[in-house]
Amino acid sequence: MILPTYSCYSYNNRIREQSSSGGVFYSLAERVLAQGGIVYGVVMSEDCYRAEYSRARTLSEIKRMMGSKYIQAYLGNTLKNVKKDLEEKNEVLFTGTPCQVNGLKNYLQKDYTNLVCVDVVCHGVPSRQLWEKYVRYCEKKYKHKIKDVNFRCKDVGWKNFGLKRTDLNNKKIFISKDLDPYMSLFLKNYSLRPSCYNCKAKNNKKADLTIGDFWGIERIEPELNDGKGVSLVIIRTDKGEKIFQDIEHFFRVAKVNYLDAIKDNSAENESVIMPPERNSFYKDINLDFNNLIKKYLPKLRYMIVRKKVKNMILNISIKCAGGGVNNVNFNYGLLFVLLKED
Ligand SMILES: Cc1cc2nc3c(=O)[nH]c(=O)nc-3n(C[C@H](O)[C@H](O)[C@H](O)COP(=O)(O)OP(=O)(O)OC[C@H]3O[C@@H](n4cnc5c(N)ncnc54)[C@H](O)[C@@H]3O)c2cc1C
Ligand code: SF4
Repeated sequence: MILPTYSCYSYNNRIREQSSSGGVFYSLAERVLAQGGIVYGVVMSEDCYRAEYSRARTLSEIKRMMGSKYIQAYLGNTLKNVKKDLEEKNEVLFTGTPCQVNGLKNYLQKDYTNLVCVDVVCHGVPSRQLWEKYVRYCEKKYKHKIKDVNFRCKDVGWKNFGLKRTDLNNKKIFISKDLDPYMSLFLKNYSLRPSCYNCKAKNNKKADLTIGDFWGIERIEPELNDGKGVSLVIIRTDKGEKIFQDIEHFFRVAKVNYLDAIKDNSAENESVIMPPERNSFYKDINLDFNNLIKKYLPKLRYMIVRKKVKNMILNISIKCAGGGVNNVNFNYGLLFVLLKED
């Protein structure tokens, strides 16, 4: 099916910085709140041990919902509360993965004109147990509780995103997605829930609007590709079209062809393939996190050390070049060898 599709990013750089992609979620939520409505979305719990649904009536509550949390979110009484809000004639925006949106629609058993549903293009969600294990591992290693986490930190760019933690002592630690063990297990597809390898929701989406990352933007609309994040917006219903029109003026927007837009984003309509390691990984999930890393990410420690050495040599080379020291050629030579191996 060919659907109306857009690439866009928010003109507001602060919103874009805090969002995973181009900031569409924030503007949708702002529009619903401005009309007295209620927004349901996913936040991290206070202790950061889990991702959970939350109900927002103010912009400050929306801020906690911003950014993708790569964990299965805890629903609690959310479906019941959404129904109550709808029955009381409140306008409701519900956001989540396609299976969560479809789950809500099945629960409600009827259409509500005051409900707008937005789903995300979904790679899949890792187990909650693994995330909790990872948090405890970090707390032990760095001797501080975690108070905030950004899974899609754009400090070194949207495509080179990394996981940034803020510890209770306010120390911020950024680890690139390729070097962080939790993100590596996620991106290698070892840690996803069983249903994500054969996702029934992807080809039966019941949301009004789908939002995602516009991977491949450099191919289609190169002038939008400034490294700060671009959203993919797919309109599925008239209600979706209407709400997107209401917020469109906050964005730099280009209409694109649906099939062209999803060429580099198979998660829109295809499940990931289960790697051979997935079954044994889940059998081993009770292992200590360090042992999981040793067994399933054997090259990670080597990659981290190499990255540190590379940075050290780069720093020394820059200092030597600045001071005109003779061994600068030696350092550049070593750096060249290390970079060549990537
Ligand atoms: C688990 C997961 C996998 C994803 N995989 C892909 C992918 O493969 N390709 C792609 O293009 N985009 C993917 N996305 C979507 C993308 O990362 C952005 O969430 C989306 O583009 C919206 O970005 P934004 O800039 O508009 O706003 P943001 O502020 O980044 O959006 C936040 C929105 O995400 C919701 N959300 C956050 N965490 C969760 C969660 N754990 N469960 C349910 N909803 C959540 C919030 O409720 C809110 O609605 C994924 C998102 C999630 C949560
Ligand atoms: S991949 Fe499918 S089953 Fe897994 S979280 Fe996403 S929508 Fe749900």
